[in-house]
Amino acid sequence: MNRYKSKAWQELFLPRLSKREIGELEKENGLIVLPIGAVEQHGPHLPVYTDTLIAEGILAASFNQLAIENNVWMLPPLAYGKSTEHLGHPGTITLSATTLQQVIIDIGKSVQVSGFRRIVLFNTHGGNIDLLNMIARELRIETGMMVFRMNAMDFKSQLTELFSEKELTDGIHGGDVETSLVLALEKDWVDMDYAPTEFYNSDVLDIKGGPFAAWVIDDLSETGISGDAKAATVEKGEEILIKLSKKIAETLTELSCFEMEQFQKKTVVK
Ligand SMILES: [Zn+2]
Repeated sequence: MNRYKSKAWQELFLPRLSKREIGELEKENGLIVLPIGAVEQHGPHLPVYTDTLIAEGILAASFNQLAIENNVWMLPPLAYGKSTEHLGHPGTITLSATTLQQVIIDIGKSVQVSGFRRIVLFNTHGGNIDLLNMIARELRIETGMMVFRMNAMDFKSQLTELFSEKELTDGIHGGDVETSLVLALEKDWVDMDYAPTEFYNSDVLDIKGGPFAAWVIDDLSETGISGDAKAATVEKGEEILIKLSKKIAETLTELSCFEMEQFQKKTVVK
């Protein structure tokens, strides 16, 4: 799939429109999508562009299922994320937390003064998640916009037929899932001769739970990955794109007309 020839870039890419056209878009409903990835090491076999490539590819597949009437528009991807946990590995290029925060706040404010009411930070890098939750809330407070954060892997329950539980739980970086996705998107960017299988030891502490251990990648892994990259295939990657994009297209459509007051049940008894 040539993602840059997809509908996401050819029809639903906000900056392809003129200021006149953007001014005329309906603003009451509608959603702006800011893809956020990373440029960071993903083991000896994957390109350092992996996360941003995956954001572009998954959104291309998702936007193929949307129409102009859905009023969901993509911004240019923010290729760099906060990847300080991979710094020192060649090719890792990171923003600091404060820089990423400022860039996203500036983009968000610009979206708001263009008249839009909703933005989603669409993320594909685990190391961005904590920060993006905080930034999303700050942006909501500073602009009054409705701000959402989505991770591509929010929908990994869709993938249980394709991958082992071990892979879906502990395959957190550069494993079967990400390698299969990159194979499906840019096969020649993967060197399977170097694909490792290495899982971090999840028997000691739950690194996602409490107590939280502030790890950097060299604490977890010798090869720079955690997962079974050797098991990756193009076919699995194509299946992931189909399964995730369907759920993501549905969710984007739902968010495009969500109102925050829907959270209030209005059942207060006075
Ligand atoms: Zn990744």
